Amino acid sequence: MANIGFIGLGNMGGPMAANLVKAGHVVTVFDLSQQAMQTLADVGAKVASDVIECAVNQDITISMLPAGKHVKGLYLGEKGLINHLSKTSLVIDCSTIDAASAKEVGSQLQKAGIQFVDAPVSGGVAGATNGTLTFIVGGSDESFSRAKTVLCDMGKNIFHAGELGAGQVAKICNNMLLSILMAGTSEALQMGIDNGLDPKVLSEIMLQSSGRNWTLELYNPCPDVLPNVPSSRGYTGGFMVDLMAKDLGLAIEAANQSNSATPMGALAKNLYNLMQNQGMGGEDFSAIFKLFSKQG
Ligand code: NAD
Repeated sequence: MANIGFIGLGNMGGPMAANLVKAGHVVTVFDLSQQAMQTLADVGAKVASDVIECAVNQDITISMLPAGKHVKGLYLGEKGLINHLSKTSLVIDCSTIDAASAKEVGSQLQKAGIQFVDAPVSGGVAGATNGTLTFIVGGSDESFSRAKTVLCDMGKNIFHAGELGAGQVAKICNNMLLSILMAGTSEALQMGIDNGLDPKVLSEIMLQSSGRNWTLELYNPCPDVLPNVPSSRGYTGGFMVDLMAKDLGLAIEAANQSNSATPMGALAKNLYNLMQNQGMGGEDFSAIFKLFSKQG
């Protein structure tokens, strides 16, 4: 069992840290939100008073923060953890951030003798809660093997995508495809409804046909087709539009750098930006369904 510092206890980080406690690790947590820390204290985590106390003397430090600027600030900023982490420790950053920031943080930490992997996740809040996340890891073989010993307590599929930053590249390819599938599923369902079909029946038909996909099967954007998904609870408690828009920004940036054609990704980014402009940034990303709905 390892001594683990866990920073960032939001929708994803909270249940991930709880699963590490459940697996028997000694977990010390920190978040800017007192309430988030209290939730983890209630399940047996130790609470730190700041990020340095959280990360000092740990075998492993895990971060799950919103964006690249938060991760860079945490490790390389003015009070950066780079100056406080043990030289034998491993840092696992599970946030979805740009590959350039992941590479910069990783290479600076490695220069200081600290191991690092980027390990963004797929599987949403349900995957984080159930310990069934997919981890997409970038880093050396040695760091990957070490990271795997704790990632397996939070997820069930752990992939080594390549060197530093490779996890982030694979993750944004996945999220770009996910956003396109969510938009396409929404418009198809709404077209069926507009033509008199029951969205439950239409979903069942498409699930047994060639339109089958993850959003239709496990995250249906039409309210009340599936229980326990964000669309059936007012588009709350999932993966926020703001975070999807951020990921699509990262995808388009990467596509520009590699001169890759991503017309569908660009369209999906525009649709998610439109939702942000309409005040839907805090809603779950399946709320894109409402853009197509005639009831608004
Ligand atoms: P969230 O906004 O719910 O949580 C982020 C947490 O980080 C918050 O609790 C916030 O207080 C904390 N935080 C921010 N700055 C901090 C700092 N300097 N020190 C300590 N705590 C700090 O976000 P989330 O949904 O948990 O997502 C986290 C990351 O995971 C994002 O990069 C997101 O893109 C990615 N992700 C999310 C999902 C999802 O379904 N929600 C799925 C896959 C990946």
